[in-house]
Amino acid sequence: MGRGPQRTHYYPNMPFWRLKSDGFWQLINTENCINLEKPSKEPTSKQLDFDLTEFNRQRDLKFRQLVLRAYNYQCAICGFDLRHDSIAIGLEAAHVKWKQHGGPCIVNNGLALCSLHHSAFDMGSIELDSSFKIKISSGVNGHQMVEKLFWVFEGKNILLPRVKEDYVHDRFIEWHLQEVFRQ
Ligand SMILES: [Zn+2]
Repeated sequence: MGRGPQRTHYYPNMPFWRLKSDGFWQLINTENCINLEKPSKEPTSKQLDFDLTEFNRQRDLKFRQLVLRAYNYQCAICGFDLRHDSIAIGLEAAHVKWKQHGGPCIVNNGLALCSLHHSAFDMGSIELDSSFKIKISSGVNGHQMVEKLFWVFEGKNILLPRVKEDYVHDRFIEWHLQEVFRQ
């Protein structure tokens, strides 16, 4: 009759199962995920680096602007606010929790500081407590200028932002105290 041997069991799913275990379905799904653009149109790694650099630059500029605005373009420690016409000189937006340790680029992790106080803050020579009072490390030493630029601020409040929403968050101050400040 030309029908071949009768099968006692019939598994209608079998062919699909076999294809699946062959990786056939996986291949189809993979194809659906592939970018339909020609490979030549995909961004080069150089372009991606550029985009990332540009993204970081914009983020840093935004952070700087938000922080300096919040502190009214003055150093939060000494009030330094030198401008040449409308350009602030020697004023920086400092991260309280460092960027390389996962500190976010948000106003609540920022302080406007003059270059000098920024360096000293990052060195662990200056600290804030949770009520925003300035602490100077007992390791800080020097003569008249150090007295004028550091010790006179000991125990004083920093110059706070006008709005409370812009204040530095406690958790970042705690991180700085633990990881950076040298008693
Ligand atoms: Zn300063």
